[in-house]
Amino acid sequence: GHLPSSTVVQALLDEAHDRYAGEDSGTVADYIPVLAQTSPSLFGLCLVGVDGTVYSAGDAQQHFTIQSMSKPFVFALVAQALGHAAAREKLGVNSTGLGFNSVMAIELNEDRTANPMVNAGAIAAASLVPGETADDKWNFIRAGLSRFAGRRLDLDHDAYTSEAATNRRNQGMAYLLAGYGRMYFDPLEATDVYTKQCSLSVTVTDLAVMSATLADGGVNPVTRERVVDADVCTRVLAVLATAGLYEHSGDWLYEVGLPAKSGVSGGILTVAPGKGGLATFSPPLDSAGNSVRGQRATKFLSNRLGLNLFASL
Ligand code: GLN
Repeated sequence: GHLPSSTVVQALLDEAHDRYAGEDSGTVADYIPVLAQTSPSLFGLCLVGVDGTVYSAGDAQQHFTIQSMSKPFVFALVAQALGHAAAREKLGVNSTGLGFNSVMAIELNEDRTANPMVNAGAIAAASLVPGETADDKWNFIRAGLSRFAGRRLDLDHDAYTSEAATNRRNQGMAYLLAGYGRMYFDPLEATDVYTKQCSLSVTVTDLAVMSATLADGGVNPVTRERVVDADVCTRVLAVLATAGLYEHSGDWLYEVGLPAKSGVSGGILTVAPGKGGLATFSPPLDSAGNSVRGQRATKFLSNRLGLNLFASL
């Protein structure tokens, strides 16, 4: 299957923007102090087809931090480097059913792993990134995520400084994982690498290209560069389907039928395998930390573009 014609796709993106721009429920995250300064009215959408065509509506050039939407790409790089079987053994791939920063996600799992889409598993994934030093790991992540985006991504220093000054809970989880033999580098340094990866500055257009790369079996449809192997993408999408929207992942799959990943900055990236990548940006979040307008707009577009993976037609 393919996407509808370009006229139809652009008209539906514009319609999604118009329909949900007035939706004003949700709250902008403030536990990372700098995020609280974001305007709640920002709203951008972008869709990139596996043929490289880019469609956008609203604030598609607005920069924001990637936050948890970095997690699938770092997991992809780790699975590519170690093999997806070893990555699963070390990180776990089961849904936790708990919030993104849950400590109980570690405690309640019999092998003390979580999954790479929640903080505990993502910090463990950062600890597994190739590189002798924290700087090597950070450079590997920045270069790898830049290949997914098709341009050099840079650190938002203010966001990094703000989160690094307040991320004691993530540091604590890294030490807890270390106590269980589930942290594969120095806990504080791994948390710092993770905090930097979350502070990469992106636009909704970057996120759509990154998700289109997952939709295209690991080949960036704009640059045509292969970033990871197709079998790695398949596994990343499986984890996104079960855990991409934290404890609301079941509700999401029930309504939208596509693998996706949210972040506290207000983005959601969604992958339509073999078709394209969609990304939305709107800062107000629901109780699980998922963008309210982004969920509404993505559900609308999944339906109207015929993207639901469980639909027979
Ligand atoms: N950097 C954020 C944190 O660790 C990412 C969380 C998120 O986007 N849900 O808390």
